[in-house]
Amino acid sequence: MNKIFFRYIIYLFYISFTLLIGNQKTCKSCNKELSAQYLIHKGRYYHHTCYDKYIQIYCDQCGKKIDGSYNTSKDKNYHKTCYQQFIQKRCEECSDIISGIYTIHEGKEYHESCYVEYILPKCDVCHQPVEDKYIKDFWGNYYHAYHDKKMPSCDNCNRLICSSLTNGGYSINSNRFVCNLCKPDVINNKFQLRKVLNNVLDILKTVGVDNLPINLPITLIDSREELIRMSGNRLGNIQGYTNYEESSMAGRIIDQKYHIYILSNLQEEIFKAVLAHELFHVYLFQNKLDLRSDIREGFCNLGSNLIYQHYGSKLSKYRIKMMNESTDPDYGIGYKKMKEKLDDIGWKRLLKKLPRF
Ligand SMILES: [Zn+2]
Ligand SMILES: [Zn+2]
Ligand SMILES: [Zn+2]
Ligand SMILES: [Zn+2]
Ligand SMILES: [Zn+2]
Ligand SMILES: [Zn+2]
Repeated sequence: MNKIFFRYIIYLFYISFTLLIGNQKTCKSCNKELSAQYLIHKGRYYHHTCYDKYIQIYCDQCGKKIDGSYNTSKDKNYHKTCYQQFIQKRCEECSDIISGIYTIHEGKEYHESCYVEYILPKCDVCHQPVEDKYIKDFWGNYYHAYHDKKMPSCDNCNRLICSSLTNGGYSINSNRFVCNLCKPDVINNKFQLRKVLNNVLDILKTVGVDNLPINLPITLIDSREELIRMSGNRLGNIQGYTNYEESSMAGRIIDQKYHIYILSNLQEEIFKAVLAHELFHVYLFQNKLDLRSDIREGFCNLGSNLIYQHYGSKLSKYRIKMMNESTDPDYGIGYKKMKEKLDDIGWKRLLKKLPRF
């Protein structure tokens, strides 16, 4: 009996020991019993496989296990090295890590200083970054708006005259200015005039304006103020003027005298456009067409447009643009009215109908 009882005691002891140990060692993750090998993490027991699956942290960049310290960003975990290399913001310009304030430009991120120094557009005049008001001129130059009022602009192309945009320029009587880009092509001596006049007469002939006097006197005038005085014109930006005198005897015209005055130092294409305008005035005098001022100046500006279209240079296009944008009742509105007419009916019919406008 004693022997059996003793065995029974041993058996009970074994059972309770197994239960006791077994209760302590279940996997925190799957609640199943742990076998010989297990892991302890923060005082809890896990199967190796359960630990790897549910507790172990993996790098969201390289997919490998993370042990030790790591970075988190937007609920994701990264090795420190993976984070620095792939996740942390880097400047698009210098590739260094960005910490602190940065600038986003067209979806890319930059150090503020890199942005200002390398990305922000620079002024074509002073080469400093343009952060506020700027001007983009017809020629593609980009500059601080405040330069506009401090520098003279070219009488021909309207560029700001300075060393960076035009390589400088010169003044005529210190109130008209011409840039050094336009300088090689300006008309400023009377020996150029004959050739230029013949040139323009030839172009006008192509649209049916012929029989103009070929020995027209042309005088170059330096000062715009003088031209304004001579013509009595209200316009501030006048460039040419045609004086006409006729003598008659017994009601019949016996002599017609024309004299054309044009500003000196106009670039050749502009000079020819002004000359064409004035020659159209001569045409009107010859044909005794006394038109309303908007029709008259609008018609004469068609002569200028003809020259600009003939040359088609960027400067010519700029001048056409200026004529189109002009709000002057005669030189702008009148011109556009006549241009529309011309496009509608062509030169031949326009000239024929001119007396009835
Ligand atoms: Zn488990
Ligand atoms: Zn990693
Ligand atoms: Zn940078
Ligand atoms: Zn500037
Ligand atoms: Zn110019
Ligand atoms: Zn005119």
